[in-house]
Amino acid sequence: MADKDAAQYDYIIIGAGSAGAALAHRLTEDPANRVLLLEAGKANHPSTRLPVSFSWLIDHPIANWCFTSDPEPGTADRAIPVPRGKLLGGSSAINGLVYVRGQSLDYDTWAQLGNRDWSWRSVEPIFRRMENYQGGGDGGRGRGGPLGVSEVPDQNPLYDALFAAAEAAGHRRNPDYNGPDQEGIVKTQATIRRGRRMSTAHCYLRPARGRGNLHIVTEALTQHLILDGRRCLGVAYAQGGQVTEARAGREVILSAGAIGSPKILELSGIGRPEVLAAHGIDVQHELPAVGENFRDHINARIQWQVTAPGVSYNERAQGANLVGQVAKYLISGGGFLSLPSAPLLAFLKTRPELATPDVQMHLVPYAVKDPKRRKLHDFPGMTVACYQLRPESLGSIHIQSAEPKEQPAIRFNFLADRIDRAAMVEGFKMMRRIVEAPPMDPFRGEEYSPGKAVDTDQAIEQWIRENSETAYHPIGTCRMGPGPNTVVDDQLKVHGLDGLRIADASIFPTMPSGNTNAPAIMVGEKCADLIKASAH
Ligand SMILES: Cc1cc2nc3c(=O)[nH]c(=O)nc-3n(C[C@H](O)[C@H](O)[C@H](O)COP(=O)(O)OP(=O)(O)OC[C@H]3O[C@@H](n4cnc5c(N)ncnc54)[C@H](O)[C@@H]3O)c2cc1C
Repeated sequence: MADKDAAQYDYIIIGAGSAGAALAHRLTEDPANRVLLLEAGKANHPSTRLPVSFSWLIDHPIANWCFTSDPEPGTADRAIPVPRGKLLGGSSAINGLVYVRGQSLDYDTWAQLGNRDWSWRSVEPIFRRMENYQGGGDGGRGRGGPLGVSEVPDQNPLYDALFAAAEAAGHRRNPDYNGPDQEGIVKTQATIRRGRRMSTAHCYLRPARGRGNLHIVTEALTQHLILDGRRCLGVAYAQGGQVTEARAGREVILSAGAIGSPKILELSGIGRPEVLAAHGIDVQHELPAVGENFRDHINARIQWQVTAPGVSYNERAQGANLVGQVAKYLISGGGFLSLPSAPLLAFLKTRPELATPDVQMHLVPYAVKDPKRRKLHDFPGMTVACYQLRPESLGSIHIQSAEPKEQPAIRFNFLADRIDRAAMVEGFKMMRRIVEAPPMDPFRGEEYSPGKAVDTDQAIEQWIRENSETAYHPIGTCRMGPGPNTVVDDQLKVHGLDGLRIADASIFPTMPSGNTNAPAIMVGEKCADLIKASAH
């Protein structure tokens, strides 16, 4: 804090995504805090407010880093697309809008790993304060927070049949999977209100933009941190061909996401000596866990034809019917254009002896031609996708160049662990059992992808390797914890350095059981609490 008066800002936040935007909002509630928020992407893209925009922003460089993974055995030597939001709101502005807090067990595990005050009891009030939830359930949900969340209002006889089929296959309905018990088949809760996407740019930054103490700079690519010995003084960022240095009197907070944060650390000389040496970067601070402990969800999907007329959005939202959907959206904010990536979810156990669900399914009332382009098929179809909630396999993300514009090498190491392979194969079979249950008889056509010929465990596993994508949930590359295999402590401070914290999905010690936007926002909120507490 020595040069507080000389610095232009008290805090510099790198990355205006799910966590960074929430953090910027909370820190600037105190007019005494001068905050610089740096974002590599643009201020906005006009289509983001439309929920269905995820289907084109998923591979559009206007708002997306459009990374690619390394070819690996887990993906049958395929390099697969790794989208990440690149604009205010970060990935919350392009994601599939599914809202999942996770299981209480997830956060109790984080506490059990040595992270004080990260148990479910500690973080549940933060989830409550951040939500403005409109929907069912029996209490325990936030109603007054900045983040709009609502249950999908869309009705469809296909959904009724899927609920009944899941029940016939031995699963139960759950009125609120974000309550104390996650298990069951459910209507999705989404970051959507009145048909509009609720990104953190909209919910957290828009209300804060008028504050004189918040300075947002977009299209500003952070190159590296500025260190003086063990202290982080500020950052160097490039904007329009010019490199600018900014100084923080108190702290710099990295919120560049699970791919961006380890990259910036390594470009700053913080990380594994052999990684830095390979790219001619001097070691400023040895920290071997940087870029390690990377996890993501590998997502396997099955597609069926649908025989009942008028229920699949391949029919409801193509040709002349699309005009009807546009009209419906403009009049009521409902219909196809207002859907999240899946209107129904299921959180299930692949083995009865498990205490809590270990797989999640997304049930989708349409089928796509090419998963990369998200083009709808010409015939009525439906899709069910499944991932294992808490994968064991660990990958890595490391720079492959000293040039800040280059993407790091993304190595998932999917399916390396036997537990992961078993859960994915069983989850795959469970998807089939649900859709093949009698209540789906009037709706179910042919399973055309992969098709019934893929029926042994070995064939299913191979098909998953050859065809699956990520579910877009990278985490863990700046893992939080007390030991040598971690990057930040439970105050989110980088081990061994002063004036530097990390707040984003990179700090998750283990994978939360579900989609990762809500936990990332919670980390941004929690970081603000920690900073406020330590500043007094
Ligand atoms: C296509 C897609 C679909 C998804 N669907 C869902 C879903 O339905 N539900 C769900 O819960 N989760 C979903 N997720 C995941 C979820 O959105 C992310 O886990 C979450 O947004 C991560 O938050 P974060 O703050 O860690 O990172 P981000 O929100 O990605 O924010 C990082 C920010 O840092 C910026 N940045 C990076 N490097 C630099 C740099 N060098 N200089 C300046 N700025 C930089 C980025 O541009 C970005 O704005 C999805 C993600 C994607 C990409």
